[in-house]
Amino acid sequence: MKELETLKQWIAECSNIVFFGGAGVSTESGIPDFRSVDGLYHQQYDYPPETIISHSFYVRNPKEFYRFYKNKMIFPQAKPNAAHMALAELEHQGKLKAVITQNIDGLHQAAGSKEVLELHGSVHRNYCTRCGNFFNLDDIMEMEGVPKCKCGGMIKPDVVLYEEGLDQRTLQKAVQYIAGAQMLIIGGTSLTVYPAAGLIDYYNGNKLVLINKSVTPMDSKADLVISGKIGEVFSAVMS
Ligand code: NAD
Repeated sequence: MKELETLKQWIAECSNIVFFGGAGVSTESGIPDFRSVDGLYHQQYDYPPETIISHSFYVRNPKEFYRFYKNKMIFPQAKPNAAHMALAELEHQGKLKAVITQNIDGLHQAAGSKEVLELHGSVHRNYCTRCGNFFNLDDIMEMEGVPKCKCGGMIKPDVVLYEEGLDQRTLQKAVQYIAGAQMLIIGGTSLTVYPAAGLIDYYNGNKLVLINKSVTPMDSKADLVISGKIGEVFSAVMS
């Protein structure tokens, strides 16, 4: 495929690559995204995911929030796929400067990536809302129902829920990486969740690559569009 050859060539030429990704990066690891036909939005629940994983729902109905969250958003058995591995390898080679992700699954770090900006937080960090005590994922998975701290406070995942703002320092750092990037590879994101999707506007270069299974609203802005599964694309490019 001509597009894969171009991507391979651009990666070979560039020494300041930044990757920006979303839920589609982890679907080949068995974690469903939200918007594909087999994604979470198309499964049947009493409320849409956007409602359940919102701040007001968490406050109003923590029991139901945690039931959904533990069942549908935590995948302890998931392993990094070829896309996560390739990005870690490119960082190791000194070509890739940062992974900016909307994912909360920690799979980039599991693959060995060091500079990972988690715009929406991580399921691996959890804090007591009263005393600030830290809990890892195993801690909260072992607790029945709504996880509580010894002090009696409710534990909240360090995940950005709907209605909550993004961490400004992380966002600022992401803007700096993107603004300074020679090549920006965007993959596995529907580019519909703001403000994350707006980050693309800070890129100034002429090597904007979009890798996605389906069309996105930003396809016309890209210098190279590759339609396909991101793990398969990176496997082919790194071979
Ligand atoms: P999204 O669900 O809106 O879109 C995913 C996109 O990836 C779709 O356009 C889909 O066609 C594409 N895709 C799916 N599998 C792919 C593959 N193998 N290769 C290439 N493309 C593929 O996801 P989003 O844009 O990240 O936004 C949804 C929000 O949901 C994010 O804020 C994120 O925090 C959260 N989320 C995270 C996870 C996770 O941590 N793994 C999973 C689900 C949702």
